[in-house]
Amino acid sequence: RDLYGEQRLNSIGLDFSDRHEMVWLAEAMEAASEHAWRAAPLIDGQVKAGAGEAVHCPADRERQVGRVVWSEHADVEHALEAAVAGRETWANTRAETRARALEQIAELYEAHGAELMALCTREAGKGLKDGIAEVREAADFCRYYAHQARRLFGQATVLPGPTGERNELRLHPRGTFLCISPWNFPLAIFTGQVTAALAAGNTVVAKPAEQASLIAHQAVALMHRAGIPETALHLLPGDGGEIGPHLVADPRISGVAFTGGTDTARRIQQGLAQREGPIVPLIAETGGLNAMVVDSSALPEQVVVDIIRSAFHSAGQRCSALRLLCVQEDIADDLLAMLKGAMDALTVGDPHWLATDVGPVIDPAARDGLLAHHERMVSAGRLLHQAPLRPECERGSFVAPALYRLDRIDQLGREHFGPLLHWVTWRAGELDALVDRINGLGYGLTLGVHSRVDETAAAVVNRARVGNAYVNRDMVGAVVGSQPFGGEGLSGTGFKAGGPHYLLRFAAERVVTVNT
Ligand code: GLU
Repeated sequence: RDLYGEQRLNSIGLDFSDRHEMVWLAEAMEAASEHAWRAAPLIDGQVKAGAGEAVHCPADRERQVGRVVWSEHADVEHALEAAVAGRETWANTRAETRARALEQIAELYEAHGAELMALCTREAGKGLKDGIAEVREAADFCRYYAHQARRLFGQATVLPGPTGERNELRLHPRGTFLCISPWNFPLAIFTGQVTAALAAGNTVVAKPAEQASLIAHQAVALMHRAGIPETALHLLPGDGGEIGPHLVADPRISGVAFTGGTDTARRIQQGLAQREGPIVPLIAETGGLNAMVVDSSALPEQVVVDIIRSAFHSAGQRCSALRLLCVQEDIADDLLAMLKGAMDALTVGDPHWLATDVGPVIDPAARDGLLAHHERMVSAGRLLHQAPLRPECERGSFVAPALYRLDRIDQLGREHFGPLLHWVTWRAGELDALVDRINGLGYGLTLGVHSRVDETAAAVVNRARVGNAYVNRDMVGAVVGSQPFGGEGLSGTGFKAGGPHYLLRFAAERVVTVNT
């Protein structure tokens, strides 16, 4: 049951023990992998023609996944006009009808799960298990926001007042939302942003990450099929640096939902502040320098499993991923030995194999940035350990999971978005100071604590300024409705995605007072 006492079910995904399900998945994914996928500006249901540019698989640069026709300025103008023209009809559509359309998207995503997973692995290099989780999370967002839309937008709330006066609080759509989504959750976060804006009755112009345009196009096609009017949702695949500033500066944009880097969030905020027209919200979910604090009472076997999953799985390409491991000195040698062993056992390679633990990073630019950091750490004599790469890694953008020793937390600098983990040790009596230094980094997304002393875990959690704290488990994979996700400080504005308050930011509140 959720916060408001209502029954809610998350998507169940696939059963790996059922051979038929696995054969179905393998065959359907293979068929989808052969398809020539396309993305293009999709405005009022019309797909822009053009030859497009080839998209290659991050795991194999020779393998073409599809082609993308990038948006030009004329497409931006066209999409904005269409989004404004579509406002009235969608805003006047009952919340119940909007909610049903969202639920229908979830059904279609599940029915088309194999092709969506194939696209997640081919275009975004996601591992198979991550691809399955991605479709589940996307479906969860649809159903959860449908449920919230009924609760929030179904009817006005009557407020108290003196006799002879009636007060009503109503939630209205703001107009048109610009949704700028990342490549690391190419279906789930894209869907979460878009469906939240739509659930509140806004029209949407969606600008997905360049590296995830094919998935976004396929998602929009399914959303239209599910009953979202073509006039309410428009897609602009494109170069963020080129079309982003024009979109943000346009007064027809009534709010922005953004997930990505902190620097980009700042630029969007500046763009919104400097433009003419209404003052509008920015809902930003950005990066993190996420720490895990391990004390000497922690269960080492559990800690190692949770470190591996939090830092290296998904190639470390989650905002929530572990970047800074803080281990109490007394157990540091033993834990390090175990961690090195676990890193050696990682399979880094082709994301299409179920046995693969770590797939590629998103593109050559990301790999080069991570390798530059690696080189700096190696030259400074900080490399503690590195996992082996399989031979097929030659063909794509792979980075070997690595562990580096730091003397001080502030040597961490900035977020390195990949499978690179940093290690510091601390002594008994230093715990409060340690948490203060983690807070001092300025981010506030996730935190892990491993301790079998309840008081210690509680003290760390209470002192830390983070949006999502995890005790004695891994610190990734927030579940819609159970772990609403998002941070504070440099990590984001809130409200949390997949939480009961998220949709409110997409709406305007109006109060009507009638003298009866
Ligand atoms: N919600 C994801 C998680 O809990 C992270 C989202 C992100 O990387 O933006 O792992």
